[in-house]
Amino acid sequence: MTEERKSEAAEVSASAEAAQAHTPLLQVNHLKKYFPIKKSFKKENNVYLKAVDDISFQVDRGKTVGIVGESGCGKTTMGRTVLRLYDVTDGEILFEGKDIAHLKGEALRKVRPNFQMIFQDPYASLSPRLTVGELIGEAVRVHKIVPPSEYKDYIIDVMKKCGLQTHYYERYPHEFSGGQRQRICIAKALALKPKLVICDEPVSALDVSIQAQVINLFKDLQERDNLAYIFISHDLSVVEHISDEVGVMYLGSMVEYGNKEDLFENPMHPYTQALFSAVPVPDPDYKMNRVILQGDIPSPANPPVGCKFHTRCNRCMDICKEVTPVYKDYGNGHCVACHLYPQD
Ligand code: SF4
Repeated sequence: MTEERKSEAAEVSASAEAAQAHTPLLQVNHLKKYFPIKKSFKKENNVYLKAVDDISFQVDRGKTVGIVGESGCGKTTMGRTVLRLYDVTDGEILFEGKDIAHLKGEALRKVRPNFQMIFQDPYASLSPRLTVGELIGEAVRVHKIVPPSEYKDYIIDVMKKCGLQTHYYERYPHEFSGGQRQRICIAKALALKPKLVICDEPVSALDVSIQAQVINLFKDLQERDNLAYIFISHDLSVVEHISDEVGVMYLGSMVEYGNKEDLFENPMHPYTQALFSAVPVPDPDYKMNRVILQGDIPSPANPPVGCKFHTRCNRCMDICKEVTPVYKDYGNGHCVACHLYPQD
């Protein structure tokens, strides 16, 4: 290759790198995941459970997006769909600019190590028949992350980074406490060198003191490896501590989204206000002004017409029962879907 060709190739690769640095790590556009619950000869008569219904957000490198909402709001299904553990009904999942929403087979297997998931119950997600070394290394071997000769050293290095002692390599999951098991799960996920980790209630099964250690481990690993997290939790204090941006989900839809400061200081949606009013304040003189939500969350198989929250909203108006509010940016990326704010 001539010198001229070499410098042209270097320029092209530098501009490709610069473009990639500006592309969000993950961009989710109008994502839908419907589960069929009744099939008919006519497609329009099919009945679906709309677990995730038209959700959009993005995650930048090295940042954390917290997702909150009551049980059954679709947080976990959204995480699993983004990870492609479920097929996508509609929408885009752009990972570093490439749509992975409909990848299959070998093409999907190739991108899989880039995004990993950490589950709520660390014991259920670890096979009791495998040692810690085998658990962490199983996928490393399958995806050929390191050459076989470096395999053991690599696993031990990952274990050390996650605060696990090296002699745990030969031990089995039942020999560990909940916090140590969750560290094994974190090491298992990080061994594949992911860029995005989806953490589904990763500390809710742990004691409060252990929760703090694991959260700090998440933060340290993020700073060191520039990891991005989607942090799914119903614990608002934990989400406030770890997140850069926060999304609030209700009945499969995102009802409010924004940076952490805006959202916690000025929650706009009545559902977010109700959720946040339940967060305890460590001040005995502070008077809690709780908004108690009435009734249960409606079925996602038959969501209310208009605003999905209107059956439980204490500020419901006539228009809310008929017209779906527009999900709109009201400044600084603070998006809300509610008729209390201008709709055009
Ligand atoms: Fe409440 Fe209406 Fe806003 Fe829905 S649109 S949250 S029902 S005020």
